[in-house]
Amino acid sequence: MRDTELYQQILGLEAPWRVVRVELDVKQTRVDVFAEHAKRKTWPCPECEAPCGLHDHDEERTWRHLDSCQFQTLLHASVPRVRCDEHGVKQVRVPWAEPRSRFTLLFERFAIDVLRETDILGAARILDISWDEAHGIMGRAVTRGLARREHKVPEYMGLDEKALARGQRYATIACDLDDGHVIDVAPERTSESVVRCLGRFSLNDLEGIKAVAMDMWQPFIGTVSRLLPQADTKIVFDRFHIVAHMNKAVDIVRRRENRELRATGDERLVGSKHLWLYAAERVPEQSFDDFFALQRANLKTSRAWAIKETLRCLWDQPTREAGEAWYKHWHNWATHSRLQPVRKVAEMLRRHLPGVLSYFTHRITNSASEALNSTIQMIKKRAFGFRSFENFRVAILFRCGGLQLRP
Ligand SMILES: [Zn+2]
Repeated sequence: MRDTELYQQILGLEAPWRVVRVELDVKQTRVDVFAEHAKRKTWPCPECEAPCGLHDHDEERTWRHLDSCQFQTLLHASVPRVRCDEHGVKQVRVPWAEPRSRFTLLFERFAIDVLRETDILGAARILDISWDEAHGIMGRAVTRGLARREHKVPEYMGLDEKALARGQRYATIACDLDDGHVIDVAPERTSESVVRCLGRFSLNDLEGIKAVAMDMWQPFIGTVSRLLPQADTKIVFDRFHIVAHMNKAVDIVRRRENRELRATGDERLVGSKHLWLYAAERVPEQSFDDFFALQRANLKTSRAWAIKETLRCLWDQPTREAGEAWYKHWHNWATHSRLQPVRKVAEMLRRHLPGVLSYFTHRITNSASEALNSTIQMIKKRAFGFRSFENFRVAILFRCGGLQLRP
């Protein structure tokens, strides 16, 4: 078999295209493959498929293909341009690559598989392409995946805000709580962000949403109330967010008390910050003694922690009525605790009580989107290359969008 035939087979080129020359550069470990086309009367317009006459040829273009035995393999061809009556002068489609891509389809497919396994920097190194090229492949994959995604209205949706970086930059993430896939990502955490995340759905579609789990965040509440009919029965304030508010309150109490104690030479709370963030059942074994000693000491911090821990039982109540009665009891305790940060959270919960108790109707939490958190955390950690929000969005949809990415 001649080398041209071999590459004709490897590249899967079909008439009118054929491989006319193969150049092997051993020093550079590189193979250059040159393709040409047979003469043809007409070529289909890339927009409308109408047969058109040949106009001219563009300058020779180069596509990176899968390596041949570690030899970087490049395909070269001059692509014909046609003149379509409707669309003007256009470059025809080539069967081995998507328009504007500098990689063959097989290379892009492989690159997507590598990108799914590792981060952009690692993939770029393995594939011997630049960060921008790797990101470009991800971007095209996401565009392709979004275009192919079936129009499905989530029954249960999660709305979540994520801090993107220091400096209070946020992103809003909407996800389908049933399959855990990210629907879309929008900049900031405003009313506009929610509208953008839900942009693909008509008002009619939105009627199909049974409930939305979210934080007690006014722009989210306001927008969902405006977009969803009977939203007041569909908003569920997410338990993980609520407990996170209580965790913050415990931490404020600890900081204040630590200051007071240290002023009298008492160092008991120094270095204990992480202990109070554990749920009771998650306190690590090696910290048991320290932690339960602090518990028994009856500090303000231990009281705040106990109130927070007890709140977690709210979601174990069997019915909404039981939940409501249970909440009243807890609220009374929390507001009489003389712990101002704890009272503040209790007052916020009372203001939002219908949305807290609607958990018992829908039984949803943002745990699906919490599971996304670790992935998003990883994306953020490696995000030193993310120069824009759009790059961040592409990375999240690439990994968490449940999209069919390959060409
Ligand atoms: Zn046309």
